[in-house]
Amino acid sequence: MTATPVYDATRRASPATRRLHVERGTVLVDPGPFQASHAGCGAIVPSGDGHPLYCRHIPTWAGLRWYPYPAPGSVWLAFTCDTHVDQVEAARPLLDRDRAELQRRRDHPRQVQPLATGAAGRRLVERAVRYYTPPAAGP
Ligand SMILES: [Zn+2]
Repeated sequence: MTATPVYDATRRASPATRRLHVERGTVLVDPGPFQASHAGCGAIVPSGDGHPLYCRHIPTWAGLRWYPYPAPGSVWLAFTCDTHVDQVEAARPLLDRDRAELQRRRDHPRQVQPLATGAAGRRLVERAVRYYTPPAAGP
């Protein structure tokens, strides 16, 4: 028996909707081809000859990427360009420490590890989404 991937309709939803899904414990499922451990924008895009390639744009955002599989799931620090910023949770502009991490990944690509796994990983995503989601505008 294989696990059935669940399509996450919240991918392009507002940050508030995403936050609600996290609060409800809805698993945030991989919204598209993406390599969170990549030393650049992790989005994987089709090339002219049909072979997927990493996006070549310069990363300008850092965020979290939750992978439910393999169980118990894992959360990774991930980077994206402006075009693919919707592929990570709790996106924020790059900080100096993120630039240092990108350099570290270029120097030691096999040493990239998830930030947390399982329930601890889900809590990390939940906290980050809360922190980086602006309050809803008033009436
Ligand atoms: Zn990109």
